[in-house]
Amino acid sequence: MNRRTSVAEHGNLADRRDLAEWRDLADQLLGWFRPDDRQVPWRHSSDPYRVWVGEVMAQQTQIATVLGRYDRFLTRFPTLSSLADSSLDEVLKAWEGMGYYGRARNLRSAAKEVMAAYGGRLPEDPKRLRQLPGIGPYTAGAIASLAFGQDEPAVDGNVRRVLSRLFDIARPTARRLEAAARRLIEARPGRAAALNQAMMDLGAVLCTPRAPGCESCPLAVHCLALARGSVADRPPTASRRRLPHQTVGVGVVWREGRVLIARRPPSGLLGGLWEFPGGKLESGESAAAAVKRELMEEVGVEVRVGALIDRVDHAYSHFSVTLHFHEAEYLSGRARPRAASEVRWVEPGALGDYAFPAASHTIVDRVRSTGRVAGGA
Ligand code: SF4
Repeated sequence: MNRRTSVAEHGNLADRRDLAEWRDLADQLLGWFRPDDRQVPWRHSSDPYRVWVGEVMAQQTQIATVLGRYDRFLTRFPTLSSLADSSLDEVLKAWEGMGYYGRARNLRSAAKEVMAAYGGRLPEDPKRLRQLPGIGPYTAGAIASLAFGQDEPAVDGNVRRVLSRLFDIARPTARRLEAAARRLIEARPGRAAALNQAMMDLGAVLCTPRAPGCESCPLAVHCLALARGSVADRPPTASRRRLPHQTVGVGVVWREGRVLIARRPPSGLLGGLWEFPGGKLESGESAAAAVKRELMEEVGVEVRVGALIDRVDHAYSHFSVTLHFHEAEYLSGRARPRAASEVRWVEPGALGDYAFPAASHTIVDRVRSTGRVAGGA
């Protein structure tokens, strides 16, 4: 009987109480792990602030994108207190292009809370960390293990996939995965930082969603899903729903050489970001008509809608959108926030000072570079 068969016959390894086997598993992982293989800068830092910023950035953004932004963000906000003292606009601008802006708002809110409640030092206790805005079980575990050397698990998407396969878990609940990861860490006390990172890296480079490299995996001998032929089914994937689609009319409204921008309410999708005002088309309505109606409803100005500038498709996590950008000329009314939280008339060249959603970037660049002057200039 080979070793793989024996593991499979014993049932779920995660439920067994065989310390020797857990240690063997941990040692295989540690032997495989090369801390320098993946260039993730905060993983070499013991500064909790740097670890925290890096892990939050990496939550919903690919590492390659994060790497280009991480140093820039830390140059702009080198310390936790500098982040706490910043304005929301400054943080959103530094976050521009990364998406999921709630992360940036939460970072700033949490920094303020850490200054007020903990004298500017992130707490070491994972339970206290979890009480801060935007810090969930994964981020708390990553900070606690990487920055404070605690034996805490950190289960991200990669680790979830590795553990689900390793123990052939059909329903990988957070509780079950955390229990398995904790058991592994307890097998080799003091090595949680390396074990957490090893599992993350294994999931990123070998135990990938499609075509995992089982033939070169250091855990293959322990892997129940491999033994049972269920690798492709672990973890189960949620059936992909067709995303709802929205069509939106947007006005690039000019008045005396300035263009009108509106700020979204502080919470919710893209909260606190700036945009050209507009809104969803009503049934049977054209984009141009929607621009005219929305400008009045949203910011209280009457406009003459001109030519279509461009159509931009963009996908968010829960819906997709097509934005119809129209030129528009200011006619009357005093711009004031209604659905928006703030409105401003700005010079085209100043648009770069404001954080806009990615879907508006090409239009912002065009307006900045052409500096179009119309509508009464
Ligand atoms: S043997 Fe394959 S499925 Fe199992 S942990 Fe390794 S890469 Fe993943």
